[in-house]
Amino acid sequence: MCSTPPPRQECNDLTRRSFLRVAGIAAAGGLLSATPAGRLACASALTKAQRDEMTPDDIIARMKKGNERFRRGKEATHDYLAQQRASAKGQYPAAVILSCIDSRAPAEVIMDLAIGDVFNARVAGNIANNDILGSMEFACQVAGAKVVLVMGHTACGAIKGAIDDVELGNLTGLLAKIRPAVEATHYGGERSSKNYAFVDAVARKNVELTIEQIRQNSGVLRELESQDAIRIVGSMYNLKTATVEFFG
Ligand SMILES: [Zn+2]
Repeated sequence: MCSTPPPRQECNDLTRRSFLRVAGIAAAGGLLSATPAGRLACASALTKAQRDEMTPDDIIARMKKGNERFRRGKEATHDYLAQQRASAKGQYPAAVILSCIDSRAPAEVIMDLAIGDVFNARVAGNIANNDILGSMEFACQVAGAKVVLVMGHTACGAIKGAIDDVELGNLTGLLAKIRPAVEATHYGGERSSKNYAFVDAVARKNVELTIEQIRQNSGVLRELESQDAIRIVGSMYNLKTATVEFFG
């Protein structure tokens, strides 16, 4: 999980070793300033020690910083092959993300994450069925992830489909899982899929309800959260501004 350069100690802890491995030099001084345009060299995957020393709040803060780098076009310089090699023998992801299949909302890219940083479950409308819950329980209880992040996004086609009561093969059943969010959204204006403000309000409510369902239907995650071992948070990705807004 790459981090921004300014907190020097943080860079030393989390990026120096990987950078040193690639650069083949022993001294740390000036390494970050040597990268083009002040970018980070993100050449390694998270180690267990690095993941374990981060709190859930640290991890959320790093996701926010990664999204900020993405928005500014200042992403880390990723050596994906080095990350792949470093993670081949084991993975220590910091978070599990539940996001939509939308091609414009790839969580790893929009938060400038590395291979091995996060588990990512993707399903249209980012709903949590039992299989998704099982995946999250594996991610947190077995593999040690500390953040469950549910990410919706603006102009979501699945949300529009649920608003319109679209019926199509297996999609009908999926959209039925989003319908409660449509009903639960308090909105004074036009309640149609053509009104993007309403669509986005439903998408946000859908994230909130999904988080409620995670807590209700997963005793494993509820217990971890009550012990402060994990945090369960929501977010909305804005396709126009490239901003990931966290809440909850
Ligand atoms: Zn979507």
